[in-house]
Amino acid sequence: MSSMNVAKSLLSSFFDALYPSKCAVCGSIGFAVVCDQCQQELIREELHFIQPIAHVDEVWAFHAYEQTAAEMVKALKYHRETALGNRMAGVILDVYTAHFASVDFIVPVPIHRSRLAWRGFNQATALCTRLPNSMVQEGLVRTRRTTPQVHLNAEERANNLEGAFEALTIPKGCRVLLVDDVFTTGATASECARALKQAGACYVGVACFAAKRRDYPASPASPAYDQPVEDRSEPATR
Ligand SMILES: [Zn+2]
Repeated sequence: MSSMNVAKSLLSSFFDALYPSKCAVCGSIGFAVVCDQCQQELIREELHFIQPIAHVDEVWAFHAYEQTAAEMVKALKYHRETALGNRMAGVILDVYTAHFASVDFIVPVPIHRSRLAWRGFNQATALCTRLPNSMVQEGLVRTRRTTPQVHLNAEERANNLEGAFEALTIPKGCRVLLVDDVFTTGATASECARALKQAGACYVGVACFAAKRRDYPASPASPAYDQPVEDRSEPATR
């Protein structure tokens, strides 16, 4: 081992002792990113929704937004567990490869620049890092800051986000994949898809790490809910 490598190794042991690696989900010490126990509880389950909300054609997610998957989403977003990002980006790559490989380009859901400055990264962009580089475009901008959605009901979420996104010019008739960490009421995806379709997209699919099971309520603004909608979600594949 060269003296440089010895120095690096010593430095790395020093930092390990100072900041021991912890499971991003449960906090157990001595694990990289996700501990074995949490990993076991992370069950892959394909959720598929067709026209779940206005403007969105379909949604695929490979985890239900519950337990470990929900903790991973929160850890990435609120505790800046960026090491998780790479793991979760692998799931987005799987969703893309399995269901969205024919899209023309991929757009991460943007966050407002003030939130970006505070958080330091956009979690949706972090989830795009393993997708084909040339396909990913920052095709949407968030034009105003909005109240965090987490404490709002479905109607408040829709109102909160109205007109919050603007699409950059995109080719007419293109197929766009929107990427986000989680799909719950769909208010964010709907507003993004509206902007993308106004700008010329003919199709907007959504790839998410996790999605809430079909419990998002009907939005009065959503034509998809003018008629009763059958439950088209995939059966659990545990
Ligand atoms: Zn754990």
